Amino acid sequence: MKKVVKFGGSSLANAEQFQKVADIIRADEARRYVIPSAPGKRFSSDIKVTDMLYECYDIAESGKKFTAKLDKIKERYNEIIKGLGLELSLDDEFQVIHENFEKKAGSNYAASRGEYLNGIIMANYLGYEFVDAAEVIFFDENGNFDEVKTDKKLADRLKDTEKAVVPGFYGAKPDGSVKTFSRGGSDVTGSIVAKAIQADLYENWTDVSGFLVTDPRIIENPEVIETITYRELRELAYMGATVLHEDAIFPVRKAEIPINIKNTNAPQEKGTLIVAHTCHKPKYTITGIAGKKGFAAINIEKDMMNAEIGFGRKVLGIFEENDIS
Ligand code: ASP
Repeated sequence: MKKVVKFGGSSLANAEQFQKVADIIRADEARRYVIPSAPGKRFSSDIKVTDMLYECYDIAESGKKFTAKLDKIKERYNEIIKGLGLELSLDDEFQVIHENFEKKAGSNYAASRGEYLNGIIMANYLGYEFVDAAEVIFFDENGNFDEVKTDKKLADRLKDTEKAVVPGFYGAKPDGSVKTFSRGGSDVTGSIVAKAIQADLYENWTDVSGFLVTDPRIIENPEVIETITYRELRELAYMGATVLHEDAIFPVRKAEIPINIKNTNAPQEKGTLIVAHTCHKPKYTITGIAGKKGFAAINIEKDMMNAEIGFGRKVLGIFEENDIS
C-alpha cells in the first residue's frame, strides 16, 4: 500500500503543526511520500512565507537592500527548527538564496524556496529522504508542465526510495531554471507524484474536514460531502469551491487514484473522498450546491433559425467579440 500525503501551509505553519503532521504520518506505514507546502499563516493577520518571499524578491530585483526581509523569513524557519528540537542549520541554504536573489534568479525561484526549505526540515524531522522537486518535476521551455518526462523521472527516482519528502509547488525547465505552478500548486505536485508512483491513495491534508455541501457563509453548518466524483468536483470547483487546486484533479483522475481531503487538526474525521465513480447509492441525490454571481442566461427567439446554417455560430460570435466567456 502506497499513499502520497500532501500538507498545506496552515498544517505546517509552526512547530506545533509540524508535530501533528508527523503524528499523522507515523500513524500509517503506507504514508511514504510527503509533499509539503511552505509555512502558512500562524494567525489570521500573519503573512504566508510564500508572500514574504515574493515581497523580498521584488525588493532585491529593484536593487534595494533585502537582507532584513530575508532574515525575517529565516526567523520563521528557525522558529520551527527550534520548536522541533532539531540539529539543523539552514545558514548555507540562506547564503545561496541571498546570492541568487542578488543575481536576480527570478520570482519563480524565490517563491519556490518556501517549499524547498520546508521540505528539508520535514525530511530531517521524519528521517525521510529529501528529493528536490527540481530533479523530478519538469516543464518545457514554454513553461508548460511536461507530463511524460516527469512521470518517467519520478517513477525511476522513487522506485527504490522507501520514504521521501518532495517539496510541492515547483519543478524545473530544460535549462534548469525553477518554475512554479500557479498559487496553491502543491496540490498539483501531490497529484503528479501520486500518479507517477501509482499510489493507492492521495491524501490532501488541510485545515477543513473536506468539501461542504454548500457555502457556510450562506448556509449555517452545512454537512461535509463524504464522497464525490472527480467530475462533480470539477463543477463545484469551477463554481468557486476552493479547497483543492483545480488542476490537481487531472493527474490522479487519469489513473483513477482517489483523493481524500483530510483535516490536520481533526484527523479522526473522515473528510471527503474524491473518486472516479460512485458504485453505491449516494446518501443524497444532490452532492453539493455552489454558485457564482454575475452569470446571465440569454434566451434568443427567432423564427426559422433552424433553417439558417451557421446561425448559432454567428450569435455566439457576438459573445466572443465582446470578450464574454
Ligand atoms: N506556497 C504556495 C502558495 O502559497 C503553494 C502552495 O501552498 O500550494 O501558493
